[in-house]
Amino acid sequence: MTETTMTTRKDFGAVVPPRSAADIESVANGLRRALQLESVPFFPIVALYDLLHELVPGASYEVLEKHEMGNNHGLTLMRNKLIRIREDVFDSACRGDGFGRFTMCHELGHLLLHQGGVTLQRANAKPPIYMSSEWQGDRFAGALLMPKNLVSPEAEPHELIDEFGVSYSAANVRLQQLSAQKTKGATKQAS
Ligand SMILES: [Zn+2]
Repeated sequence: MTETTMTTRKDFGAVVPPRSAADIESVANGLRRALQLESVPFFPIVALYDLLHELVPGASYEVLEKHEMGNNHGLTLMRNKLIRIREDVFDSACRGDGFGRFTMCHELGHLLLHQGGVTLQRANAKPPIYMSSEWQGDRFAGALLMPKNLVSPEAEPHELIDEFGVSYSAANVRLQQLSAQKTKGATKQAS
């Protein structure tokens, strides 16, 4: 498999080198730390796109019209270090809507996490979810937008929407991830 275009689809995407949730969280947290945004709930993803080349030398982005992007909300062309965002998705992010912001964070995740490229997929083996480019991108976006240190695990999803600039469903998924981590930690302590 030589395809290196990462799309925003709710499918498996490309097979990429494995990364654990903890590993992805630490990349997201490292980025917030580098930007001195560890205590800022609302991550400025739109402004950050103008600094992409500082994060990854040679990286850039462009906003394309709907007829050029079709059903793709975002695309990351790994070989060119180029992120493409559909115009309506970009506008949504500029308004502070969770949908567009999540997509832009997801594509940033592809750029930061998948520079090693994709791996060869064996014909008969279904790879585990942690080798999915889409799972990794979504996990990164959730961690970047809603870092563990700023989110109360007891919060309700709707409480995160305005503060973090996320959708209800993204907040809901993130709270489930954080409460699963908490349960795991408790189990570990008990044993
Ligand atoms: Zn994607």
